[in-house]
Amino acid sequence: MAEFDLIELIKRRCPKARADVRLGIGDDAAVVAVPAGHELVCCVDTLVAGVHFPLDTDAADLGWKSLAVNLSDLAAMGATPAWALLSLTLPTADADFVSRFVDGFAELAALHQLDLIGGDTTRGPLSITVAVHGFVPSGRALRRDAAGIGDGVFVSGILGDAAGGLRCLQAQLAKDSAMDAACATLMARLNRPSPRVAAGLALLDLAHACIDVSDGLLADLGHVARASGVGIEIEEDGLPGSTALFECFDVDTARALQLHGGDDYELAFTVAEAQIAAMQAAMSKAGCRVSRIGRVIAGAGVHVLDRNGDRKHIQGKGWEHFA
Ligand code: ADP
Ligand code: MG
Repeated sequence: MAEFDLIELIKRRCPKARADVRLGIGDDAAVVAVPAGHELVCCVDTLVAGVHFPLDTDAADLGWKSLAVNLSDLAAMGATPAWALLSLTLPTADADFVSRFVDGFAELAALHQLDLIGGDTTRGPLSITVAVHGFVPSGRALRRDAAGIGDGVFVSGILGDAAGGLRCLQAQLAKDSAMDAACATLMARLNRPSPRVAAGLALLDLAHACIDVSDGLLADLGHVARASGVGIEIEEDGLPGSTALFECFDVDTARALQLHGGDDYELAFTVAEAQIAAMQAAMSKAGCRVSRIGRVIAGAGVHVLDRNGDRKHIQGKGWEHFA
């Protein structure tokens, strides 16, 4: 299949629902209209075969995930997603792979009224780059550098499933063992994360600092602490986890996966005491579970407290490419 047939195929299968797309796929560049009183929020993420996903990952899951990781970044800014660009580098012009990839991509795009407005298609080792654009009311984006001393620290949803899913996947590949139901649950969370877009919107004007948990809770809260010039204390027993996680792993392993494991794509955020009740009401209206996991203190770094309130010595850290 030729490059232009692949582009046609992609264009045909993606939703085109937005009136604010003046010019989509087909010209030299796309043209979109940003709503008055709003700012544009942009991000891009690349998934490289063998680095970010195993080579035999299902193409539809890849399509979903390559968009999901970007929507999660927009969610962490409190932005409303609107438009995406897709750059595909493919070893061969594999129409079947591209069809399945675009199906997964389009399935998630439709859930967020997001239009694919352009991209690039080249030949080379499999690699996928997605850029996403959204908007926020001017001046109100959620940022990493806004945590205040005394804030409560919260997380959406549950932590550790995706990292648990990766462990299950690796064990399965090594032993060729049958996958049980709990493992399947964890792997589904790894392959098809749900970006917390509604939660991010609910947090506008209520959260101080916000970040999405992509590299691991401790690593990502470390970014918040550094950017905000504060310290953060986390109570280990407060971390929300699934029954599947604790079915598959002993308590210590599960806790480590929750603290260090990446790919959860939940939101971690800080809220002033006076706003906590309003935040909880807004999150419940958005249909999103929220758990209090710690507090912001004067100082630096992220510290984990055991059930007696003593600081634990923590080894290991989150995902870093050039470490
Ligand atoms: P140019 O040579 O001007 O860069 P291309 O031939 O790369 O144009 O792309 C033609 C049109 O198809 C452009 O509108 C581009 O945005 C779109 N396009 C190319 N590849 C993709 C893709 N993988 N996904 C979505 N749109 C694409
Ligand atoms: Mg091009």
